[in-house]
Amino acid sequence: MKELKLQSKDIKKGNLILVNSSHSILKDAKNDDLKEAFPGCHDILLEKRTADMLFLALNHIHSGDRIVPVSGYRSDKEQCSLYSDSLMENGKEYTRKFVAVPGCSEHQTGLAIDLGKNGPDIDYICPDFPYNGICQAFREDAANFGFIERYPEGSERITNIAQEPWHFRFVGYPHSYLIMEKGLTLEEYTDYIKDFTYNRTHLKINSGGQCFEIFYVPVSPSRPAYVDIPDDATYAVSGNNVDGVVVTLRMVR
Ligand SMILES: [Zn+2]
Repeated sequence: MKELKLQSKDIKKGNLILVNSSHSILKDAKNDDLKEAFPGCHDILLEKRTADMLFLALNHIHSGDRIVPVSGYRSDKEQCSLYSDSLMENGKEYTRKFVAVPGCSEHQTGLAIDLGKNGPDIDYICPDFPYNGICQAFREDAANFGFIERYPEGSERITNIAQEPWHFRFVGYPHSYLIMEKGLTLEEYTDYIKDFTYNRTHLKINSGGQCFEIFYVPVSPSRPAYVDIPDDATYAVSGNNVDGVVVTLRMVR
């Protein structure tokens, strides 16, 4: 048994952090956590594991050069200039729909990637990523590699962002699988997972030939929380960027 200490600083980091207009990020992801979004793609960066999983996902569907990364990690400064440029060029209404306020963009975490169908004129803010062909093949396979379509049709009321068929967010497996299967947004999933607490019921799932247990641990700013990790499990920890931490156990048989 291993004892895990969870502190308030853990709330703000990890694959499951909820970043939106109500939950901003504290600061930019550290530069040494970033790498090229795709080999040879020097100007588009992602958090390391997100980049590795994107590479595997695109390889799995043999996308070749038919899908290209359009935008990945953005510093606060880059998000600020994108926001003000869009206000000037596209106006308030368009910008409000498609560009997050600086500090509230998933792109500042390094966990989000905008993908485009390769073509002569790729729109930087709203790239074409249709619901057919190779783009749809990526979308249908994405959850197996930890990605979700973050702003699907009909979710604007909850996410405050218009439908964005091109924007994918890395949350990690099996969370991606659960979110897609249940048809939830990350906002809804963050609430859903709170029903499964460390001291009570864990969320147990068998998926992809593996057995997982997931639970939520509220963490107060003043007092750390402690949880025991069983010896027959590997584990991952992520804050929710709201009020606690999600622990994911993968049972080793
Ligand atoms: Zn995006």
